[in-house]
Amino acid sequence: MPMNVDVIVIGGGQAALAAAIAAREEGARVAIITKGKAGFGGSSVISDGVQSAIFSTGDSPETFFEDMIRGGRNLSNPMLARILAEECTFRVNELESKFGIPLERERKISTPGHSFPRRVYAANGLGKNTTKVLRQYALEIGVELFEQSTLIDLIKVDQVVVGVVVEKAAELHAFYAPSTILATGGFGGLYASTDNPKDVSGEGIGMAWRHGAELVGMEFVQFYPYRLQHPANVDVMTRIFGKGAVLLNEGAERFMADFPRKELETRDILSYEMFKQNDVYLDFSNVSDEDLAKDSPYVYRLVKKGHQGEWKMYPVQHYCMGGIKVDEWGRTSLQGLYACGETSGGLHGANRLGGGSLTEALVFGRRTGTMAAQEGVSVSKAFEIPAFGENTLPNGKELEVSQRLKEIMWNLVGIERTTNSLQRAEKELDLLAAELNEDKGVTALQLQDKVRAAWAAAFAGAMRKESRGAHILQDVRGEQKQWEGNLVIKGKTIEFRQETVSERT
Ligand SMILES: Cc1cc2nc3c(=O)[nH]c(=O)nc-3n(C[C@H](O)[C@H](O)[C@H](O)COP(=O)(O)OP(=O)(O)OC[C@H]3O[C@@H](n4cnc5c(N)ncnc54)[C@H](O)[C@@H]3O)c2cc1C
Repeated sequence: MPMNVDVIVIGGGQAALAAAIAAREEGARVAIITKGKAGFGGSSVISDGVQSAIFSTGDSPETFFEDMIRGGRNLSNPMLARILAEECTFRVNELESKFGIPLERERKISTPGHSFPRRVYAANGLGKNTTKVLRQYALEIGVELFEQSTLIDLIKVDQVVVGVVVEKAAELHAFYAPSTILATGGFGGLYASTDNPKDVSGEGIGMAWRHGAELVGMEFVQFYPYRLQHPANVDVMTRIFGKGAVLLNEGAERFMADFPRKELETRDILSYEMFKQNDVYLDFSNVSDEDLAKDSPYVYRLVKKGHQGEWKMYPVQHYCMGGIKVDEWGRTSLQGLYACGETSGGLHGANRLGGGSLTEALVFGRRTGTMAAQEGVSVSKAFEIPAFGENTLPNGKELEVSQRLKEIMWNLVGIERTTNSLQRAEKELDLLAAELNEDKGVTALQLQDKVRAAWAAAFAGAMRKESRGAHILQDVRGEQKQWEGNLVIKGKTIEFRQETVSERT
C-alpha cells in the first residue's frame, strides 16, 4: 500500500535528522527513509563531530563569512555563506540548550582557513554523540522512521516531484508527499580511496539530475590530508598539528616548512603537497602523551597497542563541495524536491573549511525542513508504484561495475587531474552506462545513477580550465579571473554562472 505523509526525508545523517525535526516541529507528518539506521549511518556518524560557531573575542559573522569566501576561492554562494555565518552559533548552541548534548569549545587552536578558534564538538568527540541524540529526539516528537530502506527513484508527475519509490527487503514501496527532501550525502563512496562509509554513494545526486534538477560545483572534490594509511586506516585529526606534530617526506624533510601555516594550510594545499611526495610520514615525537590522548585518540590507541614502526600518511577522498543546486531554503530547481547537507552544492565553493559541513547540516537542515513543511506541491491521490523491469544483470556484474567506477574516479577524477584524464573519464563512464542500458531493473537503475553523479564530476572538471581550490589541473596551473564563477549542469548542458561579490548582502 502506498503511504502518504507531508514531508519525506531521505537519509539518516545529521542533515536528514535536522530537517526532519524542523518539519515535524512545524506540525508536518514526517517520514525518514534511510538505508541503514537513522543516526547511525552516513559520514555524520563517523565524523570527528566538529561544528563551527562564533565564541572567540573579536570574532563575528562578517569575519566568518569572509573566511568562507576566501576558503571557497570566491566561488561560495554568497547568500548561503552569509546565512551559515549568521545562524551557525544559534544552531550549534542549540545542541546543548535544546538537545542536551554537552559541548566542548576549542579556544586555542584555529582550524585551517578560520581566522579565530571556532571548533565546537560534543564531549568525547565523534559525530555519533550528536546524531544518536538527534535520532532519539526525532522519535520522541513523532518522526516516523523507515530504516534498511533504499531510495530507488523519485516519482514525478507533470514535472513535479510527488513522492519516492523505496526498496526494502527486495520489495518496492511508494511514499507520496507534497515535499521530498534529499539528504543522501555526497558521492565519496564512488572513489577507490575514501574515508566515507559505503552507504554514501551519490545515487541521490545522480537521480535528481536524471529527473532534471540542476547540479553545481561538481568538479570540486575535497581530499583529506590527515589520514593515516599505516599501521591503520584512521583519521589523525588536525588538532595535533597545532601541538607539535609534523609531516616528513621519505628524505625526512618537513616539506611544508616554507608554507605560512605549515601542516595547517587548507586541505586542498596540503593534500596536493602530500600527493607530490613519494611517501609521507607523521612525526609526533614533540606531542605530549596527554595531548595525543585528547587530540588524536586513534593514534594514541595505536601507540598504546605498541606500534613501533612507521606512521605513513596519505590523502583520501573526503567531501564533495558540489551537489544539487539549492536556494537558501533548500529548494532545488525541481518543484516538490528539496535538498540539504552534503547532497546539496554551492555553499563551500571550491574548497570547504573544516567544521563547515556538520554546521551546514544543522543550519540548512533546519531551514529546509521548515520550508518543506510550510509549502509543497499538492498530492491529491496516491499513485501506483511505477513499474520497473526484471533484473537481468549477470552474477557479479554489480560488483564489477562498482569497482571499475571507483578506479575511474580515483585515477582520472582524483587529486591529480588533467583535462585529458577528465575527458577520458567521461568516455569510460559513458561506456559503463551503456553496459547497463539494456537492463531495466532497480539494481541497474541504482548503478546508472551512481555513474551519472560520477560523470557530472568529470564533465564539470573537464570544462573548468584552471586550477582553483580542490580542482588542481596539471595542464592549467593557477586561478584564472574569467573562471570566477560556478558551473551549473542541467541534463547534458553546462552553464557558467557568476555570483558576484555585490550579491553578498
Ligand atoms: C571521517 C570523516 C570525518 C569528518 N569530520 C567532520 C567534522 O568533524 N566536521 C564537519 O563539519 N564535517 C566532517 N566530515 C564531513 C561530514 O561528516 C559530512 O559532510 C556530513 O556528515 C554530511 O552529512 P549529511 O547528513 O549530509 O550526509 P551523511 O551523514 O553522509 O548521511 C547520508 C545518509 O543518506 C543515506 N542514503 C544515501 N543514499 C541513500 C539511498 N539511496 N536511500 C536511502 N538512504 C540513502 C545514508 O545511508 C546516510 O544515512 C567528516 C567526514 C568524514 C568521512
